[in-house]
Amino acid sequence: MEEIKTKGIVIRTKDFKDSDKIVTIFSADLGLVSARVRGVKKSGAKLTFAVQPFALCEFMLIKSGDFYTCINATSIDQFFNITNDFDTYIFTLACLEVCYKTVKENSPEPELFLFLVKALKAVCYDGLSAMYVFIKFMLNSLKYLGFEIVIGSCACCHENLNESLIAFSYDYNGLICGKCANKNEYLELTKGEYAILKNIDGTEIENLNNLKFLSRNDLVSVISLLIKDFRLHTDEEIESIKKFL
Ligand SMILES: [Zn+2]
Repeated sequence: MEEIKTKGIVIRTKDFKDSDKIVTIFSADLGLVSARVRGVKKSGAKLTFAVQPFALCEFMLIKSGDFYTCINATSIDQFFNITNDFDTYIFTLACLEVCYKTVKENSPEPELFLFLVKALKAVCYDGLSAMYVFIKFMLNSLKYLGFEIVIGSCACCHENLNESLIAFSYDYNGLICGKCANKNEYLELTKGEYAILKNIDGTEIENLNNLKFLSRNDLVSVISLLIKDFRLHTDEEIESIKKFL
């Protein structure tokens, strides 16, 4: 049996047998790992903290065949504040779901992992809007997956955009100019929706609090667009926020 120490974030948990749990960990160096934690549902179990979604821990795992068992863990951060506010909770949960649906076993995604830690810290300690952070998280995830959304110029002909018509094309995965819009299907964005996409894309996560968007409807529309784009590329739905959009 092989002993492995790895840093990771718990992104999903489920009950297993009477007193165990299976945790899905997004590990910095292993990608997605499912591990059994024995006896963790018994009262007084010492690893309770390590089977909570969002828990960032150093896990000690044993690998036997294809199966992992977590035998110990050290907490690095539990991000407790995330559950204090409904919006924050739902949109950060959706970030975990994006990871769950895109990261594979034995296939580390170091950029996405670091960005997830940054995103959790930003909403938890810096009071950043979870909706802004989720939009940034989707834009970056799509980029890391190889489906970067083109916002700065026409995604079809690469010419400058004329801002009198703001057209988003799912086929070209980005904004397209008026000329290309005449020849293709597109979704017309409002000025507000465009401002959200452009400014969040162009702002580092640390500085997102300098932005102010007043319309929740525009934010929700942009999130719906990103979720649809994600689905078209990955065939995966983001279930955790669907009913709140
Ligand atoms: Zn064009």
